[in-house]
Amino acid sequence: MKPILIVGAGLAGYTVARELRKLDKISPLLIVTADSGGVYSKPMLSNAFAQGKSAQQLLSQRAEQMATQLGATVLTATRVLGVDGGRKTVSTTGGVLEYEKLVIAVGAAPIRLPLGGDAADQVLAVNHLDDYAIFRSRLAGKSGTATSRIAILGAGLIGCEFADDLAGAGHLVTLVDPNPLPLAAIAPPALSQGLAAALTARGITLRLATTASQINKAIDGLEVHLADHSMVKADLVLSAVGLRPELTVAKAGNLATGRGILVDAFGQTSVRDIYALGDCAEYTCELDGGTRTLPYIAPLMTAARAIARTLSGTATMIDLKPAPVIVKTPCYLMALVPPPLHAIASGEWRSASYDGTIVSRFYDEHGIMVGFGVAPHEPNIRQKLLAELGMKCASELPARSV
Ligand SMILES: Cc1cc2nc3c(=O)[nH]c(=O)nc-3n(C[C@H](O)[C@H](O)[C@H](O)COP(=O)(O)OP(=O)(O)OC[C@H]3O[C@@H](n4cnc5c(N)ncnc54)[C@H](O)[C@@H]3O)c2cc1C
Repeated sequence: MKPILIVGAGLAGYTVARELRKLDKISPLLIVTADSGGVYSKPMLSNAFAQGKSAQQLLSQRAEQMATQLGATVLTATRVLGVDGGRKTVSTTGGVLEYEKLVIAVGAAPIRLPLGGDAADQVLAVNHLDDYAIFRSRLAGKSGTATSRIAILGAGLIGCEFADDLAGAGHLVTLVDPNPLPLAAIAPPALSQGLAAALTARGITLRLATTASQINKAIDGLEVHLADHSMVKADLVLSAVGLRPELTVAKAGNLATGRGILVDAFGQTSVRDIYALGDCAEYTCELDGGTRTLPYIAPLMTAARAIARTLSGTATMIDLKPAPVIVKTPCYLMALVPPPLHAIASGEWRSASYDGTIVSRFYDEHGIMVGFGVAPHEPNIRQKLLAELGMKCASELPARSV
């Protein structure tokens, strides 16, 4: 009997496997992964420096333990190179494997900025436990003191979280971003301003509305040259300018791709019996009336449950609901439901302050609320705002507008 083959041992791959085993304890299950197959919480990576956690401490289970728990074979250090949807095989660095059904859960890779300078290759990115281990060891080795100067490129979700966390661990952080405010792509301006103030009060230097152009070696570390002709001294440079869905396997198998691997409402790709989810997937999204990559935990869990049911014989649509993203910046915790991309140009944010809590609602061109943000993050207010999504704009805001 050919196995159900899952490519990737991140949260997406392992969650499909767990959900499948709740429904089907018999079908052979094979998980193939390029890494060591250990289980860790990726969101912890941007919250673990301040807690002084080592990579080992973030690892909760090893591949062998997962294999036993799931009644599966886990092939580690094995990269999938291509897919043949007709023959139902995948080619890997360890040979050709057959499958009955295939699930692609290969994640995303950090985007690399085209930087000049003789130290451009020293820029690090953290999107995996192994990257975290490398960054941590460089941090320990670089400055010779407990405090390092760290330049972070990108003040999006991940960049802001790392900045807050590394500052919390006692490091001197400079955050560089082309936008005039942090988190500009997904947060309302009122909350971005609050975050900018909180990061500054935390001791983080914000270098906004400019970009890094070159990284050069210097006697005392690195020099990050910015487009505005200024320069930032650093011991380490961390890039957090975004992730790009991993498409190598999909393209080799001629699967339809957009920004991610395109999947239908059931999570199936353009080729029969091949599914995709997680950071590599581009979901068909009722909410947007289009397709959308959703590189967050909540949609991945929903997709994993639906795909597992479909694999076990009950065709199940992925029921993607708006899920708040919690921005894990302890200096300014916020919850966000970013508005759909197509609504941004024609809609508007409206913000109000309630006893120090800022609530921002995004209304589309028809006056329907399609996004929100709240800071400081209050779970009760977040739940109320979630219930308001899809509703018509109230004519008056009951609090002071900001
Ligand atoms: C620092 C950080 C903080 C985050 N915080 C949050 C948060 O607070 N809330 C939230 O909702 N989301 C957060 N996210 C996003 C969330 O963690 C991801 O959406 C999720 O972990 C993605 O899981 P995945 O399994 O799709 O990908 P990954 O975890 O990247 O797993 C991909 C797997 O595929 C394997 N692989 C890749 N290519 C191949 C190949 N060719 N052959 C075989 N194996 C391959 C890899 O080795 C890996 O095992 C955060 C992300 C980061 C980086």
